[in-house]
Amino acid sequence: MTIRRNGIGMTSPRTRQRMIDRLREQGIVDEAVLAAMYEVPRHLFVDEALASRAYDDVSLPINYEQTISQPYIVARMIEVLRNSGSRPIRRVLEIGTGCGYQAAVLAHVFPEVYTMERIEPLYQRARKKLSDLEIKNVVVSYADGSAGMPGAAPFDGIIMAAAAPVMSAALREQLAVGGRMVLPVGRLEQWLYLVERTESGFRESRLEPVKFVPLLMGKA
Ligand code: SAH
Repeated sequence: MTIRRNGIGMTSPRTRQRMIDRLREQGIVDEAVLAAMYEVPRHLFVDEALASRAYDDVSLPINYEQTISQPYIVARMIEVLRNSGSRPIRRVLEIGTGCGYQAAVLAHVFPEVYTMERIEPLYQRARKKLSDLEIKNVVVSYADGSAGMPGAAPFDGIIMAAAAPVMSAALREQLAVGGRMVLPVGRLEQWLYLVERTESGFRESRLEPVKFVPLLMGKA
């Protein structure tokens, strides 16, 4: 898939390459993930006033008290998703579209992406952004994603961009056997977890401390 680039300085290959070099230093090794992170124009997903910081390793505000996740965590979660489990990922569900950046990266790496957002203006904006960028393999839904998307299940992968206080049992039921889910769990102290669905049940691993916005209930 190709992404149309516009002419402003932020798209400079140097700025993007610096982000990729930093991701490597931080331990990201999956070339498919690094290539997708290089390709997706992250500065187009934030307000123009913040565009000059888009490739720094920070989360940035996207309004409505939400943030775009820092590049490292986006890369890390997708790398874990791709390299765990026992089957290649075809269909993936993201909960918490936000500005649509991570969905765009997912769309470079996986064939079919479903993403859910509970805040209507964010949903609208993400949908438009993905369509402007001609990213066609993402279905964006305006819905409370805390219970996943049973109608479209099973998924080979599920990724959450907001932290639930406790691990959801409903979500993992939407994984195919061999599928896996990467998600932050916790309130004040949060950890990234990997949950894999095996023939006989679920295997859970705790990966690293993280800091996400909270998963909230209902539509807004
Ligand atoms: N992946 C995003 C990160 C967005 S921050 C990006 O690349 O920018 C997390 C998002 O999760 C916020 O937009 C928030 O509104 C959304 N969210 C929180 N609870 C949710 C829920 N129950 N259902 C769907 N989205 C939710």
